[in-house]
Amino acid sequence: MRLNGQVAVVTGAASGMGKAIAELYAKEGAKVVVSDLNLEGAEAVAAAIKAGGGEAIAVQTNVADLKDIHTMIDTAVSEYGTLDILVNNAGIMDNMAPVGDVDDERWDLIFDVNTKGVMRAIRKALPIFLEKGKGVIINTASTGGFSGAHAGAAYTASKHAVIGLTKNTGFMYAQKGIRCNAIAPGATMTNIASTMSNVNEFGASRTKVTQGVIPRVGQAEEIAQVALFLASDESSFVNGAVIAADAGWTAG
Ligand code: NAD
Repeated sequence: MRLNGQVAVVTGAASGMGKAIAELYAKEGAKVVVSDLNLEGAEAVAAAIKAGGGEAIAVQTNVADLKDIHTMIDTAVSEYGTLDILVNNAGIMDNMAPVGDVDDERWDLIFDVNTKGVMRAIRKALPIFLEKGKGVIINTASTGGFSGAHAGAAYTASKHAVIGLTKNTGFMYAQKGIRCNAIAPGATMTNIASTMSNVNEFGASRTKVTQGVIPRVGQAEEIAQVALFLASDESSFVNGAVIAADAGWTAG
């Protein structure tokens, strides 16, 4: 098992990629804090992991709330004794709205969840990682984190910021044994995708006009495999990197 005995916190783990990551980590021997705003969903994921012989606990977390972030990380320590892997995956979309259609309230909400929540969770986890001299941080960015053509203004800006934070964190803490990387998924079939205007049609139109792109949307399990690689020692020389898992959309 590739994560035997490791303690992982995964945010947004009641659904989609976070759920797939939590399940795969548990299968690989990790003890998983299944964190989500949706407690019922998180509890169902934790129960399924336990039913399969794994270790997991559900924690209700609004990543936009500092108190909840603290409770989430403190739960890993109180339940499992430490923290080894932090996956900042929770995120919300903005329905392709360009900047002219974004009001302050929506902008602030998207940044509080997608960006500030990531920063706060890293900041809370850092003392644990620094004391151990080891730790892994994985942030779910997006192809919208380095392209302006994949989402609305607030989401695009929030995910660009996540990539900047990932690179800076990887750079600043590399010599302390902490690695920080990001995954940039392309269109992937999850709940969030169903709120996008038309993820299937969007994916299909892109694949029709773009040579060399895998002609389908992704599955959450395919993103989880990247998150497993980044969490395991197999990626021990990977730091401050952004791995696109996007069928090749951003390669051209
Ligand atoms: P999803 O909607 O299936 O899962 C997101 C989860 O985050 C949900 O369980 C939701 O309850 C939770 N969540 C929402 N707001 C929260 C908050 N304030 N605090 C805690 N949890 C909260 O979507 P997904 O596609 O699995 O999204 C996971 C990540 O992947 C997000 O960061 C998203 O931006 C990113 N992403 C998704 C796609 C895609 O096409 N699906 C593409 C690129 C990036």
